[in-house]
Amino acid sequence: MERVLEILGRLVAFPTVSTEPSLDLVDYAVDLLAASGAEVETFHDSTGEKASVFATIGPDTGGGVLLSGHTDVVPTDGQEWSHDPFALTVESGRGFGRGTTDMKGFIACALAMAPTFAAADLARPVHIALTYDEEEGCHGARRMLTELVRSGRPLPQVAIIGEPTDFGVVVAHKGCYEYTTEIVGVERHASMSAAGAGAIHAAARFITFLDSLADEMVERAPADSPFDPPHTTINVGTISGGVARNITAGSAVFDWEIRPVVAADAAYVHRRLEQFVAEELLPSMRAEFPEAQVITTVAGEVDGFRRDPGSPAVDLARRLTGNPEPMVVSFGTEAGLYQEAGIAPVVCGPGSISQAHKPDEFIELSQLERCLGLLGELVGELT
Ligand SMILES: [Zn+2]
Repeated sequence: MERVLEILGRLVAFPTVSTEPSLDLVDYAVDLLAASGAEVETFHDSTGEKASVFATIGPDTGGGVLLSGHTDVVPTDGQEWSHDPFALTVESGRGFGRGTTDMKGFIACALAMAPTFAAADLARPVHIALTYDEEEGCHGARRMLTELVRSGRPLPQVAIIGEPTDFGVVVAHKGCYEYTTEIVGVERHASMSAAGAGAIHAAARFITFLDSLADEMVERAPADSPFDPPHTTINVGTISGGVARNITAGSAVFDWEIRPVVAADAAYVHRRLEQFVAEELLPSMRAEFPEAQVITTVAGEVDGFRRDPGSPAVDLARRLTGNPEPMVVSFGTEAGLYQEAGIAPVVCGPGSISQAHKPDEFIELSQLERCLGLLGELVGELT
């Protein structure tokens, strides 16, 4: 446990906020894993400033279990912390610091166990994956998995994604597809123009159309959907635009998201939207102002995690935790990406999601101890 806190202290001290480089943390983890006898590979992003780590301990036979954690953390801007967020403070049985719960605590446990995994006579390998940009669209895991699949090598059978679930066994979650749409209209004296080419009016029509799609999503909900609400949701979260009441708006920008129950819902929304923009919205704007535009950019598209009743990952997590009751959650993880790559995922780890992303984020030390215990039992599963 002392070793876990030592490693966690080092991990918390790397301020790996999603927008920042992660290589210092990566170098530290690579050295530590290599010293434990792991085969270690890294997968860099296009800037070369961030990387995912993929380590293999034991026979390189494929199969086995992957322990997956993201190294990025959310920012602390505007939050009132009573501890230094980028230094681990241990106090009254808790470890405080940004990322302690989400999810450097789990990573510290996995890294601390690496020598134990290496010393065991494993029949199947343990892998440790450390990814970047999970909080910003899961880019790190996507890139790493694409490369691993492309290499044609045998993949792990199971991925345990140690997000904070208080060791609840999470078997499904919705996807999260995030967008920003900018509408370019024309600025004129309000008395001179029909409303058609003003960007705010166009945004209102776009959003009203999203509303009608949201109603259709209710109808499309699968009968056996485990979620609450059971259907795909659509939300517009911010909007801005225009300069004055008496000027038609030259620009309107809004952030919106889809949380699809099934990926087909997101594809449906996009198909309908594209048709609406191309056949109705743009033609009516361009009749007034030929340069009108509707530009949607993707902030992140994270697939949902579908429940698989026969999942070996879920069976394993149930055995390890003794927790028979599967659950679904409302937050997104990298599980959908693993599923797509043909690796059975389960989301199960130490700490509580209610502590994540908050000022004075902490993890109970008892949760880390339990995590170490479960990883110790994992050795028995793989020998
Ligand atoms: Zn997380």
